[in-house]
Amino acid sequence: MKTNKEDRGIGWNLEQTYLNLPEVFYTRNDPEETEKPEWVILNHELAECLGLHPENLQNDEGLWLLSGNKMSDMAVPFSQAYAGHQFGHFTILGDGRAHMVGEQITPEGARYDIQLKGSGRTPYSRQGDGRAALGPMLREYIMGEAMHALGIPTSRVLSVATTGQPVYRERVLDGAVLSRVAQSHIRIGTFEYAAYIGKKAKIKALADYTMRRHFPAFVEEGAAQYQKLLGEAIRKQAFLVAQWQLKGFIHGVMNTDNIAISGETIDYGPCAFMDTYHEKTVFSSIDELGRYAYGNQPAIAEWNLVRFAETLLPLLDEDQEAAIAIAKETLMEFMPQFTYFWMNGMRKKLGIFDQEEADEALFNDLLSLMQKEELDYTNAFLALTYGGRTLAGSDSMEKAREALVPWVAQWEERKKRESRTDRESLDLMKQANPAVIPRNHQVEKALEAAVRRSDLSVMEDLLEVLKRPFDHEADYKKYQEPAGPKFSSYRTFCGT
Ligand code: AMP
Ligand code: MG
Repeated sequence: MKTNKEDRGIGWNLEQTYLNLPEVFYTRNDPEETEKPEWVILNHELAECLGLHPENLQNDEGLWLLSGNKMSDMAVPFSQAYAGHQFGHFTILGDGRAHMVGEQITPEGARYDIQLKGSGRTPYSRQGDGRAALGPMLREYIMGEAMHALGIPTSRVLSVATTGQPVYRERVLDGAVLSRVAQSHIRIGTFEYAAYIGKKAKIKALADYTMRRHFPAFVEEGAAQYQKLLGEAIRKQAFLVAQWQLKGFIHGVMNTDNIAISGETIDYGPCAFMDTYHEKTVFSSIDELGRYAYGNQPAIAEWNLVRFAETLLPLLDEDQEAAIAIAKETLMEFMPQFTYFWMNGMRKKLGIFDQEEADEALFNDLLSLMQKEELDYTNAFLALTYGGRTLAGSDSMEKAREALVPWVAQWEERKKRESRTDRESLDLMKQANPAVIPRNHQVEKALEAAVRRSDLSVMEDLLEVLKRPFDHEADYKKYQEPAGPKFSSYRTFCGT
C-alpha cells in the first residue's frame, strides 16, 4: 500500500500525534482501494493554506492518495473511536466510513487533520458500506466553503474524487471520497466514549491531548486546567452557535458525536440555510420532532455541553460533589456567553455600535415581525441595509421593506442615540449582512448539473459567488432571490 517515497513536491508534512493516545481510541487500518478513481474537484486555495502545492497534487499520485488508494509514506491511516447521544440516546459509534491520513503541519505551524470520508469499511462500520455518494460530498464542499467565507468556524473540503464504483442507496449512485480538513475531529462523543470505557486514566489522556492541541495556553498543573478546558469549549460553542443563528444556518443533526471540541462546524449532512424566518424551521427528513430546529440550536448546544461536562467530572475534583459544583458553575456561563455573542452580532447587523439595555427587546421585536410576515431572513436584513436604494427587481426585499416599516421607526429612534455617523453604521451592516447565502435551490441546481450531467460549471459559478458573500457591489441578483413556495417542502438527509 505504501508508495511515494518522496513527497514529489506536494508539500505533505504529516504527523499522527493522535496515535499517542491509548489504543482504544482508534484502529489502524487502511482505506479500501477503489476501482477507477477520478478527480472531481480540488480546493486550490485550501491546499495552499495547508502548505500543499496544488499543481503537484492534482495528478494521478495525488488522486490515489486522496481517494484512499495509495498512501504517502508519511500517512498512517486510522479510524477514530467515539460514542455519542443521537437524538438524545447514547450509542457507541466511531468512524464508520472515514480514515484519518494524518495531521498536516502548515508552514505557519498550525495543525490540521486530513481525513478521508467515504473511504471504505472500518471496524466501526456496523451495517454501513463505508462508502459515500458524489452528491452529498459535493454538497459538503459547497457548504463548507460558504460557511468559511461567512466567517463561521468550520471544517472544509480539500478534494472530492469519484471511485468508479456504485453505491447503493434508495437509488444506485456514483461513489465518491472526499478529504476534509479540520482543526481536529475530537468530538464531545470522543469524551463520552472515554467515559464509557471507564477508567479515569483514559479520560485524562484524552483531556490532556485535547488541551495541548487546542488550548495550549491553559495547560497547567492540576484540576484547574480541566475546568478551563470545559470553559473554553463552552465559549467556542457559544460563539459558533451564535454565528449559526446570526447567519440563519441550521446544522440539522446536533448529536454529540457531531460536535467538535475545537468549536468548528463539522458533519455536513442535513444542514441548510433558512430562507423564510421561523424559529421552528427544520429541513432534516428524520428530525420529526424538531429537536434540532433553528430556534432550539442554542439550548441543544447547552444540552450537549452538559454531556461533555459529565465526562470531565472525575478530573474536575476528587470529590464528586465538588466536581459537580464546578461543572455546574462553568456550564452556567454558556447562555450568557451565547447571548453576548448573539447580541454583538445583531448590533452589527443593525449598524449599532453602543450597547443599550433595551436592545434585546428591539431585536426580538424585529424577529417576531419577520416571523409573522414570513420574511426571508437574509433579505430582510438586506432590505434594512440597502434601505430604499437597491431594491429593484427583488420581490422579497421589497416585501420586507414594506412589512418592516413599523419596526423601522423604533430602530431609527434607537440609532439617533448612536455616537457614530450613518456612514459608519452602514459600513458595519454591510460587513455583517451577507448579500448571498447558499440558497437551497441554487445548491440543488449545482449538484444536479454536477452529478447527473457531469457538468461542474454551475457549482463553480456558485462557489465564486459564495466566496465573496459581503461584496455588496457585485451583481448577485440571480443568487439572492428565495426559491419560493415550490421549494418550501425542501428536505435534507443524514449519512448518505
Ligand atoms: P452521521 O449521521 O454522519 O453523523 O453518522 C453517524 C454514524 O454512522 C457515524 O459513526 C458514521 O461513521 C456512520 N456512518 C454513516 N454512513 C455510513 C456508511 N455508509 N457506512 C458506514 N458507516 C456510516
Ligand atoms: Mg457524524
